Amino acid sequence: MTALGLLLLSMMGQSQNMLPINEPSAAASAVRDSELLSRDDWGARPPKAVEYFKGPIPFVILHHSYIPAACYTSSDCKKAMRQMQDFHMLDRGWNDIGYSFGIGGDGMIYAGRGFNVVGAHAPHYNDKSVGICLIGDWQTELPPPQMLQAAKDLIAFGVAKGYIAPNFQLLGHRQVRDTECPGGRLFQEISTWPHFTLLNTTTDTQPPHKP
Ligand SMILES: [Zn+2]
Repeated sequence: MTALGLLLLSMMGQSQNMLPINEPSAAASAVRDSELLSRDDWGARPPKAVEYFKGPIPFVILHHSYIPAACYTSSDCKKAMRQMQDFHMLDRGWNDIGYSFGIGGDGMIYAGRGFNVVGAHAPHYNDKSVGICLIGDWQTELPPPQMLQAAKDLIAFGVAKGYIAPNFQLLGHRQVRDTECPGGRLFQEISTWPHFTLLNTTTDTQPPHKP
């Protein structure tokens, strides 16, 4: 078992401990420390299967859930994670919740499939990306500051730990699939973040769909 495997195991729900994300690179601009909650913390079903891919991960892809709506308490955000997992596993028949991580309006990070696990959130990118879902509908509203900060903290943590490539490309779901996701307002926001990439000039993996 590698160190990576051990950390992934701990993220998959072997520990009840909350893992602080307070790496120096993340803390520099953090208004508060984000915390990573394990799958056990939100009452996840066990995955039907787990398939790993090698890192460092070149893409970070942001999503919104649209449904469920935004959550602002620990209890509501855990419920939202279970609701998404139920939809993905029971209705869609997938192996697990589709996303690598969820972010709550409570400013907490919820472990989904985790780093370096093949996801089900973005065709052609599932084996080379981290899929982060900001829970809520962000078409016209901007997520609250603690939610945006938690997403930034998670990305910085991933880079600091070597899961995510230092030169990663940040994308919104709509850039790799014909979808409104991650919401117009959120997409506008992330397009100002470091590493945001306009795909059609920088990648040869998949042409973007027209909106
Ligand atoms: Zn999406």
